[in-house]
Amino acid sequence: MPTQQDLPKSDLVAAGKLYSSQYAGSRAEQYVANRGLGGEAAKFKLGFVSKSMVGHERYLGRLVIPYLRPAGGDAAVTTLRFRCIADECVKDPNGSFLQPEHEKHEGHGKYLGLPGHRPQLFNTWPLIRPSPYVVLGEGELDPIASEAAGVPATGVPGVTSWREHFTPAFVGFETVFVIGDGDTAGRKFTEEMCERLPNGKPIDLGDGYDINRFTQQYGHEAYRQKLGV
Ligand SMILES: [Zn+2]
Repeated sequence: MPTQQDLPKSDLVAAGKLYSSQYAGSRAEQYVANRGLGGEAAKFKLGFVSKSMVGHERYLGRLVIPYLRPAGGDAAVTTLRFRCIADECVKDPNGSFLQPEHEKHEGHGKYLGLPGHRPQLFNTWPLIRPSPYVVLGEGELDPIASEAAGVPATGVPGVTSWREHFTPAFVGFETVFVIGDGDTAGRKFTEEMCERLPNGKPIDLGDGYDINRFTQQYGHEAYRQKLGV
């Protein structure tokens, strides 16, 4: 099995650039716009795999979410995640987008990562910027939704992806708003992360709501009010 070391860092940057260049006018662009996050696409350099790099054929047709790092240069992209946006998974028979929780991804992963890549934090910019607070959310699209609402946010793929060396990056904040999805797994995420982070503050957006859905339905101001920021 290939490991993280097999792919030179500069290849990750090249892959990120290639997929970002294939985003405009793609199904990925439509999908992201439907989630209300179109305005963030450029900042997060979202991409689409219409033509893949060699070895990336299994990611064809997927939305690409790069993990960007403030250092830039060859270290600008540390990994890529690929989200399924196939019509048969994310749309109803009439061609309308389903709510994300009603999407059906059968026989394949909704998200695919690069082989051998360990879990990492998504969007680490907020961790080096002065702020009394930061949001810790699940995955990538929720932190992006929080940033769209003007609230700095970092994401982790899930509670089992947490690594001890992530913890020190959060200790300097007065408050870490921990926001899992409004379901059993999400609430477990919130509870466990608040146990790990002494400055963690659990935020429950309500049954069935994650940051993306909440901000789409109630708006950015309502989200900030919920956090009190
Ligand atoms: Zn799928």
